[in-house]
Amino acid sequence: MTQIKPGSKIGILGGGQLGRMLAMAASQLGYRCHIFCPDVRSPAFHVAADFTIAEYGNEDALREFAESVDVATYEFENVPARTAEIVAQETILRPGAKALEVSQDRLVEKDFLNSCGVKTAPYKAFETQEQLDAAYKEIGRPSVAKTRRFGYDGKGQLMIKARKDIDGVMDVTKGAPSILEGFVNFDREISVVVARSASGDVAAFPVGENVHTNHILDTTTVPAQISEVIEAKAKVMATRIANALEYVGVMAVEMFVSDGSGEIVVNEIAPRVHNSGHWTIEGAATSQFEQHIRAICDLPLGPTEARGKVVMKNLLGKDILDFETYLSDPKAYYHHYGKQDPRDGRKMGHVTWVNTDE
Ligand code: AMP
Repeated sequence: MTQIKPGSKIGILGGGQLGRMLAMAASQLGYRCHIFCPDVRSPAFHVAADFTIAEYGNEDALREFAESVDVATYEFENVPARTAEIVAQETILRPGAKALEVSQDRLVEKDFLNSCGVKTAPYKAFETQEQLDAAYKEIGRPSVAKTRRFGYDGKGQLMIKARKDIDGVMDVTKGAPSILEGFVNFDREISVVVARSASGDVAAFPVGENVHTNHILDTTTVPAQISEVIEAKAKVMATRIANALEYVGVMAVEMFVSDGSGEIVVNEIAPRVHNSGHWTIEGAATSQFEQHIRAICDLPLGPTEARGKVVMKNLLGKDILDFETYLSDPKAYYHHYGKQDPRDGRKMGHVTWVNTDE
């Protein structure tokens, strides 16, 4: 496997906070980063050696970007297939195209997960009203209708609690390929952030427990309130998925857990560093961002243990303006992503508390 030595250049597709924190971690290891993003106000530009402002369909700009770096990666899963193909022609792309293909489409993703022997909610694809009615007959309620592509933070989704809710589905999916998914009666949501290096070494971080508000991650707490058996089982599932994808880099696997039965159902995978792994920056022996850089550069993976009890909270919109509170708290680590406009619900930063119980 090709090792990319410290001092080399890393290309990152996407210029949001994930790209920014990746570039910061990379620079500690002596790498320089080149960020590619269409948005002139990308927060990752502030901390990178080079940047290109161009659309993901601009093939000349993509080729020039890819030729300028020793390895390329991405910070979002909706990288168009053609964009990934061009970059992979000119440089090493890690993770590869397979991870994108699987994670961009909920149907392909669920088929893939089941083929790995990992349980998902029951699901059925539909596009038309007729197919939806057939899917509803099979899946029943409560259930969730979701578009197969481009859904995030609850967008393109509708809960079916009563028979009449079916009537609203086509207004949400608008005839786009979709799935109807059985509702999972879970007790908690967890995620496993796992790294696999180019040489095939795998290391999972301790499992995080996630609480969402209005479909957006609010907090991640480590350790999760789960048994050792569930913790081990969740890590094995994530490792199996990473190996089956021949994945290179850090990925997150989101899961639902039922306390009584101990059953774990995988909701989705994110082929990138993940919001539920931000706690690792100060709360773990190695941060998920450094681990991703180590994995794609084929360096030894770092240790993953937690440094005590850790809580990460997202700072949305105007929450970011409370910096005096967090900066006066000796146990808090305040992160501002450098975004200018604190719109409601926008991820502006996060705060992490380490060892809150001691
Ligand atoms: P997703 O867009 O698939 O990540 O879903 C966003 C959130 O909706 C999840 O984190 C869950 O809280 C909830 N959710 C999604 N699908 C299901 C399901 N099948 N059963 C129960 N809750 C779900």
